[in-house]
Amino acid sequence: MYNTNMKERFTALMEKFIALAALRLPDDVLARLREMREREDSPLQKTLYDSYFENLAKALELGRPCCQDTGLPHFYIKAGTAFPLLDMTAEALCAAVRRATASVPLRPNALNFFDETNTGDNTAERIPWIYWDLVPGSTDMEIILYFSGAGCSLPGKAQVFKPSDGYEAIIPFVFDVVAGPGINACPPLVVGIGLGHSMDNAALLSKKACLRLLGTSHHHPKGAEMERQILEGLNGLGMGAQGLPGKQAAMAVHIESSGRHTATIACAVNVSCYVHRRGIIRFDKNLSYTLPTYQGASL
Ligand code: SF4
Repeated sequence: MYNTNMKERFTALMEKFIALAALRLPDDVLARLREMREREDSPLQKTLYDSYFENLAKALELGRPCCQDTGLPHFYIKAGTAFPLLDMTAEALCAAVRRATASVPLRPNALNFFDETNTGDNTAERIPWIYWDLVPGSTDMEIILYFSGAGCSLPGKAQVFKPSDGYEAIIPFVFDVVAGPGINACPPLVVGIGLGHSMDNAALLSKKACLRLLGTSHHHPKGAEMERQILEGLNGLGMGAQGLPGKQAAMAVHIESSGRHTATIACAVNVSCYVHRRGIIRFDKNLSYTLPTYQGASL
């Protein structure tokens, strides 16, 4: 059971966590961008990376979001079924988003379909978007927050192929998304690929793939090899930061998969920009928290 004090503490912590994730890139993302700057040779690419780092440093110094498009908040939750605040988590996340919109501030991006008016607080029908995985018996909760900006959402695409198209169909499909509309999503990109049996399950998996920690691989050796080969291919396109000439279009290629129907091969692609605002917070049953991707930070 929870009491009112715990509910308020959880909401207040999530408001602060939203602020942290809007201002500061996760450690793994920042480290990857620094490595990539070193691998680029051209003065143009080095200048672009330097302007990225300057922008990120200014965001922290001035206490402002690191991109003007603060997106729509998505929460991917691994919820222990015995986590004491489970019943009110969704309500608290909505409240935290409303408060953070005013206090950070976040750009109000949310409107409802059909009435077309901006709600002004980044909540709307099914927004914040919340996806649940239940962990039976656990008293903990992990929340991944992702700010889904327009530039990153626009290139997303899903298609269901016939088995006769083969797994070979996946490759040009991914390349067309990244080298086409992906250019407008402020590369270098995290490329999430979902492989499954239907458009909807592949789409969800592609977003989960984007959220994985950089440096991790698909659990199957052939999946890991496909990730490696697609990354190598994308980084051979001659496209770098901001889609301008360079050596690296992508920070990472991640694949998440499910079983598939014998007669379908579904593939979806989601991309995330260099401002990859994917924050992780973990709570125990007493609301003690850890921030595994923000070393030295506290709320
Ligand atoms: S693509 Fe990313 S960095 Fe570019 S404007 Fe959108 S949120 Fe900002």
